[in-house]
Amino acid sequence: METDIDDTCKAKDEEKKSKQILVIMVGAPGSGKSTFCEHVMRSSARPWARICQDTINKGKSGTKVQCLTSASSALKKGKSVFLDRCNLEREQRTDFVKLGGPEVDVHAVVLDLPAKLCISRSVKRIEHEGNLQGGKAAAVVNRMLQKKELPKLSEGFSRITLCQNENDVQAALDTYSGLGPLDTLPHGSFGQKNPDAKIQLGIMKFLKKVDAPSNTGSTASSTQDPVPPQITEEKNSCLEGQEITSLLSDAAGEEVKGTENPEVASVNQNGSSSDVPTLAFPSLSTSDFQFNNEKASDVIIEKVEEFVNKLGNARLVLVDLTQGSKILSLVRAKAAQKHINPKKFFTFVGDITRLYTGGGLCCNVIANAANWRLKPGGGGVNAAIFSAAGPALEVATAERAKSLYPGNSVIVPLPSTSPLCGREGVTHVIHVLGPNMNPRRPNCLDGDYVKGCEILRKAYTSLFEGFLSIVRSQEKLSKGCNEDIRLEPSVSQDHSEDVHGNYISTGDKIKRDGGHEYEQSKKCKTQNEVGTDINLSRAANLSADNEKIGVSTSKAWGSWAQALYRTAMYPERHKDDLLEISDDVVVLNDLYPKAQKHILVLSRFDGLDRLADVRNEHLQILQTMHAVGMKWAEKFLHEDASLAFRLGYHSAPSMRQLHLHVISQDFNSKHLKNKKHWNSFNTAFFCDSVDVLEEISNHGKATLKDYDSLLSMELRCHRCRSAHPSIPRFLLAPGTQSTR
Ligand code: AMP
Repeated sequence: METDIDDTCKAKDEEKKSKQILVIMVGAPGSGKSTFCEHVMRSSARPWARICQDTINKGKSGTKVQCLTSASSALKKGKSVFLDRCNLEREQRTDFVKLGGPEVDVHAVVLDLPAKLCISRSVKRIEHEGNLQGGKAAAVVNRMLQKKELPKLSEGFSRITLCQNENDVQAALDTYSGLGPLDTLPHGSFGQKNPDAKIQLGIMKFLKKVDAPSNTGSTASSTQDPVPPQITEEKNSCLEGQEITSLLSDAAGEEVKGTENPEVASVNQNGSSSDVPTLAFPSLSTSDFQFNNEKASDVIIEKVEEFVNKLGNARLVLVDLTQGSKILSLVRAKAAQKHINPKKFFTFVGDITRLYTGGGLCCNVIANAANWRLKPGGGGVNAAIFSAAGPALEVATAERAKSLYPGNSVIVPLPSTSPLCGREGVTHVIHVLGPNMNPRRPNCLDGDYVKGCEILRKAYTSLFEGFLSIVRSQEKLSKGCNEDIRLEPSVSQDHSEDVHGNYISTGDKIKRDGGHEYEQSKKCKTQNEVGTDINLSRAANLSADNEKIGVSTSKAWGSWAQALYRTAMYPERHKDDLLEISDDVVVLNDLYPKAQKHILVLSRFDGLDRLADVRNEHLQILQTMHAVGMKWAEKFLHEDASLAFRLGYHSAPSMRQLHLHVISQDFNSKHLKNKKHWNSFNTAFFCDSVDVLEEISNHGKATLKDYDSLLSMELRCHRCRSAHPSIPRFLLAPGTQSTR
């Protein structure tokens, strides 16, 4: 009993002894660190020492080691200590944090005030202890802020107080000034309005300043601090060390050549990444029409051999549902004998309506072993394809042709509303009819294999030619486009009941002027499968009214534009290419990074295609995406502290499925090729994630800007904001580059 009382008393004594505090101040020059310390020391009843590197050497600037020694000795004397130096980078804080222990709590007080304020204070001050004043101050502040790493509890701090405005500073002053000798402060992070906003509220807020064109009325810059003129004078502040010619050349690049159609199939025996146009076709006539397998396989091989060299980067896949199918093994063996390139032609076991979701094989075109009426029904492939594609295929087919003769085919562009399109990435179905050897079916050839083989050859020729015409039309489209975005191909086909040609007239009806799809989409009209003009615009009235674009599911997304959607829905198919998979998000490298580090955080929520779809109830999703984006940005910063990041959404994305860009601000990438690329990340077209979160929680939706004018805005350096009327002028403008 006695012992218990003794212990309690001892504990109380311990409590009373309290702890010393080492406060590591964190802030740019001009943020008010010294003023803060001095104010607290004047008002506090606790013994404090202020260690300032600018004066530690007998009133002159000293070294970090001197600060460490001095701080350690002050602590030993029982004082609490303010470490008054910038400490903006984690590494600069590490040794000081180690001074903490059972007797000493280590706190951080972060004066994370706007760059503009710090700079203007630094520029104005005279007789600064560290002689940092006048014009050179701006440059130093700017440089230091770009390296800022906000402190984390995991560094060893027991308490972090973040101050982002004068009110925050005052609150922190009150807290520390009121500390008596025995008082302690609760542990944890305080003052963080958005705990994930460290980077953007700091460096990024500073960098994200954009000037909207005067006629757009964009609000982008209204909330931002204008970057003071001093920054424009800073050497190396613009696009430092960058290969500007590659950055801003107007030339079409690889993305234009059709590599941005983004399917990535993770499995098939060829290990293909399936970024290529692919026709999946069933063996014609060998099932219900009872065509001899040997003969059919000969015809397949003959026709494949004929076409394989015309395919370019496209490929053909013979598909059968059954493992050990006779026709597949015959064809495989014969293809091997003939040394047909297995990357151009191979066989695949799987359901032709679920090649992507069921087998990871993305085929933009599938062939249907159709009946002559071009109707659903029967069994096998025809029934499966009509059923999987939904009624849209029947309607689209009926608009193209009413019937089909053996040996012919008809190409039907698949409406993007069809599940086969959205889910599997199929853009076209080619119905093809082979010869019939089944006496119980119409037009039986009664064993006439001469005629039968002739018709079968004709059918495959028609099918493969049809596929090639689709491939060419897509190539044409992408070549006609100056940038990396391609529209869903437009197909218009003349047909009549007895001409079931595979002629595809493409491009003629499409007017495009190049540019990002979000721009093209406004201007491009394409003829859809029912022959009506539909405008592919996803956001024609974007600037006027966000509501009008809120119904994303009714919009047309081309197959290529669904790649992120497919990745988000079926991440396991892409797992080798992904950085992270969770229930809520998928993280992957941008396939065409526009900077050294450029990743995408995809929401996995089905139905959120883009920012315009986001409403209050999705806030949690956005917060998760932001948190994940921040985690990756921090990781990258840890690897390379010279980087700076922005996290944000494109006002009008080119790809379906809500995705957050996490992009370093060097813009050092061969994929950044033109003004629209540039402006999509450096104008209000790019909506900062922190702003989006704020807007959604305050107003229930994001404010989307007039993207068209933003993308065609004059070119401006993202750091100094100097404007240039054209890309070449920007390139040539003296003083825009690091040589300035
Ligand atoms: P947005 O304009 O916001 O839709 O941006 C789409 C981004 O997706 C662009 O930065 C493209 O470079 C990128 N991208 C396109 N296809 C793929 C893909 N298959 N995988 C990863 N990123 C892609």
